[in-house]
Amino acid sequence: MTAAIEIAAREIGRVRGERAGPTLIVVGSLHGNEAGGVRACERVFGALRERPLPIAGELVMLAGNVGALREGRRYRVKDLNRVWREEQVAALRARDPAHDDAEDREQRELLSAIDEALARARGPAFLVDLHTTSAAGHPFVLFGDTIPQREFAITLPLPILLGLEEQVDGVLSEHMTRRGLVTLAVEGGQHDDPASIDHLAAVVWIALSSASLLARSDNPHLESALARLDRARGAVPRVLEVSSRRVIGEGDAFRMEPGFANLAPVSKGQTLATHTRGGVTETVRAPHDGWVMLPLYQGQGSDGFFWGRAVSERRLRASRLLRDLRLDRLLRALPGVSRDRGDRDRLRVDTRVARFYPLEVFHLFGFRKIREEGATLVVERRKH
Ligand SMILES: [Zn+2]
Repeated sequence: MTAAIEIAAREIGRVRGERAGPTLIVVGSLHGNEAGGVRACERVFGALRERPLPIAGELVMLAGNVGALREGRRYRVKDLNRVWREEQVAALRARDPAHDDAEDREQRELLSAIDEALARARGPAFLVDLHTTSAAGHPFVLFGDTIPQREFAITLPLPILLGLEEQVDGVLSEHMTRRGLVTLAVEGGQHDDPASIDHLAAVVWIALSSASLLARSDNPHLESALARLDRARGAVPRVLEVSSRRVIGEGDAFRMEPGFANLAPVSKGQTLATHTRGGVTETVRAPHDGWVMLPLYQGQGSDGFFWGRAVSERRLRASRLLRDLRLDRLLRALPGVSRDRGDRDRLRVDTRVARFYPLEVFHLFGFRKIREEGATLVVERRKH
């Protein structure tokens, strides 16, 4: 359990440059038990007050779940990072605030702080969302895989997890991507580890230069921030791709094998977990050499672990090339694949016919999974 922290206001700090330029919005601690995000923002803002730097555009740093932070809890009524689906945000905007629960109020305030920052913007806008994890291990980056977001994320010398964000619904960064911002989220390390604050502060210093608010030559924190994150990455590859999730159903018994870090290499056949569902006990083994990500060791949750593999530089370049050439049109010619009638950017995949194209094929072409409707998989082309 994380201790409650003192926090004066949602806005932790704001630096508006005299020169026009991009807007960088940093959100810390959308989860109230992850104080590291707010602490990192306070540290960066303190340093900028002590030694002002020639920032162009505007840096705005916001606390996520203020009420839950004060209580040292992840949230009070509901998870503030699962409420950002388009229809959820539209419903919140349309609803009478008198009916708000604790997280509705947080979301409403946060949304208006972000809206105001965007209304003041004098250039492109970026959003960085700072988190920490319950498991020990390496810090890493998550983002929706569009080319601009990939280019932004790759400036952080941390492992990048592609495809994880589409396994969960309604996260803030995805909502802001839909609104045209370049976004990423960072898991900085374990909740109460002081090093997590160092990692998250380093992310903000690097983001200031990657988003072009601060020239690299004017950023005295850049070198040490890059070195710190590079050290924290250790031997983990730069890019990992999530291909599946071990779903724990209600009433299942699930026990992860001990000893996996939050990103852990495993060999084919290695025992990962024991999973009992419907009275049948399965020993879960690695289907091939790969990576276990975010194993579940404590607390509740429906994600046993995520499974994936390292992505080579060559494959990353190939995917960029495929998208530049718009070869995704070819996907529609595959058996079992058709364009959604309601939405030009969506494809419907009949998994009975198209069972041999794994989700990775669609990832490679810049699509993400939206949902499964029976045997139909719906994927959507990422915009921007
Ligand atoms: Zn979090």
